[in-house]
Amino acid sequence: MLPPFRTARERVLAGATLFTGTGDTSQHDQGLWIGSDGTIRATGPSDDVVAQAHERSPGTPVTDLGGQTVLPGLVNSHVHLGLTLPGPLADAMGRAEPADIALLMADSARRTLHAGVTTVRLVGEPSFTDMALRRAIDAGAADGPTIYTAGQALCCTGGHGHDLDGLEADGADGFRRATRRQLRAGADLIKVCVSGGIASSHATVDTPQLTDEELGAVISTAHQWNRKVTAHAGPAETVARAVELGLDCVEHGYRLTREVTDLMAARGVWYVPTISVSRCEDFLVRNNTPSWLIDRALEAGPRHWESLRHALASEVPLMAGSDMPPHAPFDETTATVRELEFLVDAGLTPARALRSATADPAHWLGAADTFGTLRTGRRADLVITRADPSRDITALRGLHTVLKAGVVHRDDLGTLRHSP
Ligand SMILES: [Zn+2]
Repeated sequence: MLPPFRTARERVLAGATLFTGTGDTSQHDQGLWIGSDGTIRATGPSDDVVAQAHERSPGTPVTDLGGQTVLPGLVNSHVHLGLTLPGPLADAMGRAEPADIALLMADSARRTLHAGVTTVRLVGEPSFTDMALRRAIDAGAADGPTIYTAGQALCCTGGHGHDLDGLEADGADGFRRATRRQLRAGADLIKVCVSGGIASSHATVDTPQLTDEELGAVISTAHQWNRKVTAHAGPAETVARAVELGLDCVEHGYRLTREVTDLMAARGVWYVPTISVSRCEDFLVRNNTPSWLIDRALEAGPRHWESLRHALASEVPLMAGSDMPPHAPFDETTATVRELEFLVDAGLTPARALRSATADPAHWLGAADTFGTLRTGRRADLVITRADPSRDITALRGLHTVLKAGVVHRDDLGTLRHSP
């Protein structure tokens, strides 16, 4: 008889190269003891951890990883599980019932988890389907990553995102109400579109869209409820105004200047570059995206890259997000891994790129005590790779095992199945 839901199992991973999500290097010959409650009970030199586990919990199975690398499960900070780009899929989704959308999103959530992404930050989903999916995942009724969500993205009437399930509002009162509706539904953060985007059909990336009163209403309402606000934003002037109004994070930032990235750094504003979106021709072509949209995405590329370089020079804190589904095939790996490779190409060390997809987003989400690092008491969300991605980021392509809260969700090599 099959158990109703998979549960965590107590075990020790020994002989591991461990990247804890803190610091710049990994450590060799480490052990990690996972408890049956799905949290990490101890880490440290392999022999010590094995001895400790066997003393306090005799019979705990030990798996020797033979030097393979264990690192925290990845966090993708810019995700739309219900993503539809203009084209045939959007046309099909436009006719879909909410139940169809929920099933498609659940499928995307499962693939996301299998791609090694154990936490997602959703930044715009249709009609609170994300809340239903989160309940199902938390209850063990669906497989997927831990979800932090903004609910519906907010935009002005006709603004960026209105045709992508955004919630339209106008005036300070309208935006205050729209923000509170997300909070009522269970939003962990608020996402607002303050300028046009690559996928807007009748606005350009640099069209400003909200008045200061409107954006100020969103930010003050969210902050009163102790939630952060992130903005889809392109041009430097719009970002600078939003930062002055108290914005917490910028998504995309297609046209940032050194002046504005310095301002962001000074105010502690974070940046999710989603650098892949302006260099993902392969993905767009495969999804039958119309050629005008592909042209616009690629045209934004050089200036977008310059924005990222400014952000690195100003030391703006970064979170990695793909915008594409985290599991989407891209350059023979996933969109999540490819995004991290781009960040390294732009100048991040591999360790820092990994932190932008582990410890750093956990910190931004106010959950550094829960996940994002492999330390005692944290949730056992982790992935295993053959080689060490903190030395060479492309080692993430060899990711073969995924655990979320101590539950094995993927084990390509059967490493953990064969444990005594
Ligand atoms: Zn997006």
